[in-house]
Formats: sequence, C-alpha cells, structure tokens
Amino acid sequence: MIDLHLHLDGSLSKEDFIYLAKQEGVDLGKEFPSNIYVPEDCPSLEVYLERFALPGELLQSKVALKYATKSLVLRLDKLGLIYAEIRFAPQLHTLKGLDQLEVTKAVLEGLEDGLKEAKTITANLILCCMRHASEEVNMETIQVANKLKGTRVVAVDLAGAEKLHPSSYYAKIFNRAKEYGLNITIHAGEATGSDEVMMAIDNGATRIGHGVHLSLDPISVRKVKDHEVCFEFCPTSNLQTKSLPNYESVPLREFMKHGIDVTLNSDNMTVSNTDVVKEMSIMKKTFKLTKDEIRQLIETSIDNSFTDVKTRHHLGDLLDERIDKFYESL
Ligand SMILES: [Zn+2]
Repeated sequence: MIDLHLHLDGSLSKEDFIYLAKQEGVDLGKEFPSNIYVPEDCPSLEVYLERFALPGELLQSKVALKYATKSLVLRLDKLGLIYAEIRFAPQLHTLKGLDQLEVTKAVLEGLEDGLKEAKTITANLILCCMRHASEEVNMETIQVANKLKGTRVVAVDLAGAEKLHPSSYYAKIFNRAKEYGLNITIHAGEATGSDEVMMAIDNGATRIGHGVHLSLDPISVRKVKDHEVCFEFCPTSNLQTKSLPNYESVPLREFMKHGIDVTLNSDNMTVSNTDVVKEMSIMKKTFKLTKDEIRQLIETSIDNSFTDVKTRHHLGDLLDERIDKFYESL
C-alpha cells in the first residue's frame, strides 16, 4: 500500500499527544482524546482545519518534530505500507523560534531515524505553503525546498482554505518553484470547483490534492491529460469536510473511465480517524473493485510518486510480490 497524501500534524497517534504534551508542557484540554478527531457533525473544511491547532502547539521544537515523524514512519511500516510521502508546513512550526530550515531538518532527521528501524517502508517529504500566509513566508518554504533538493524533500504543496484564497494568488511563488525545478502538488477542487484545479495546473502542479470537483468536460479532461496530472483522492476526509455527501459520490470510476490518473490516500490518519488501507477497503466495497483495479491504483501511486526511478522499480517489485496479500487484506 502507498500513501502519497498524508499530513504529519494530522496523523499524531493518541500516545504521541500524551507523550508530547508532557515533554512540551501543553495542556491537552478536558475533552481529550475526542478533541483530536474531527467532530461527527463537522460542517465544513474550515471547521475540520481547526483540529490542527492542538498538534500545531505540540510540534514547536526540534525534539518534538523528530519524535512525531519517527513515530509516524514506524506506524506506517507496521501498517504494511511500502512507500509514503509525508507532508507538513514548516512555517507552522516556527512559533518558538525555529526557522523553516531548522524545522525541516528536524523532520528529516526523524524520518531517517524511523526508516533505519522500519522493516520495509521508504518515505519522502513534501513541504506545504499555506494559503493564509504572506508571500514572503511561502517564498521561504520554496527556498528551503530548493536548498534541500537531493535529500528526502521531494516536492512543494499549497494547503489551507481554498475558498478564501484561490490558487491564482500564488503564481509568483510557484513560478519560482518551477524555476528551481521542484515537483509541485496543490490542494485544489476540494472545497471549490474545477476552475481551482485548472489554476493549480497553470501553477505547475502535476498532482492535485483531492480535485474531486474537477469537471469531466472534454476541455478539462484534455488539459489534465496533456499535463499528465494525477489526483490524490482522500474519500473519508472529503465526507468529513462536506466536500462530498457520501462514498458513492467519490468520482473514482468516472476518473478511471476517462483514463485520468487517480490514487487513494488518507489525508490525516488521526483527524480523519483513518489510514490508506481503510480507504482502499472502503472504496473496494463501495465500487466492487477487482484485484486488477486495486493493482492499477497502487501502480498509479508508484508512477506518480516524486521518488527516483530506482525506488519506483523497487516499489514495482514489492507490489508484484504483495498484491495478492494486499487484496485479501481489504
Ligand atoms: Zn491534505
């Protein structure tokens, strides 16, 4: 199994919260642990995003960032993942004096520590710019990604409330990312429509976070295919943010029928109370996916991952070995 869309701060375990709260001197609140999951009656993406305040408070030191990243990698390994791209916004972890480069290096260290102890998984990092942030702060994120090219930092992203801040505002930032030759994925078409996806593609995104509201008219489909864009679906998260009404409305089959690259991911393991194996299982049951279709979804994840060719080949071999077991486990 592979997860290409997974946020570090949305995926701390309950045990991580308890450990880090003690270490960092943070009060978890009277409602803990129910306040770490999305509320059942969550009305919107904006309310969903409020669940990131507490993990944000906990992840303000190098030690905490390292610890949380290592813990996540080891949990993913245990879950049977062969590859993951973990994303986070360095700018959200600078409240106690770290700069974005220091934040990213701490996460890199935690990642390396985790990978050393892990049995199978390999993983890389994606740095998120934030829609609410200033151009200067987001530009720093791009600079950090460029400085750390050649490490496990493999791409940049844009996250946050898209209704309030459309992708067109970020052309300058992503032009710089393009100049640097950075891989780009952008959250788009989650809370808004197809126009936002088109703008994200204009900004250089070759992967779209969610994108479920892409219109499948011939012009949009042509553009998506011409730019070889891949979509990172996260079904449970979409239901919680009211982006989609139910699992049946996930446009998985429609995208596949149009020959558009689509993958399944978790978004946030804790906030959404899920993981990529669960997401795969739910989609298998909802759409009666065959073994070949499950295989195709994982192959699409491998082909569109931001890792090197050698790792992609290795992941292909692992998939060959494990597909029967994967399918049976769903
Ligand atoms: Zn996301």
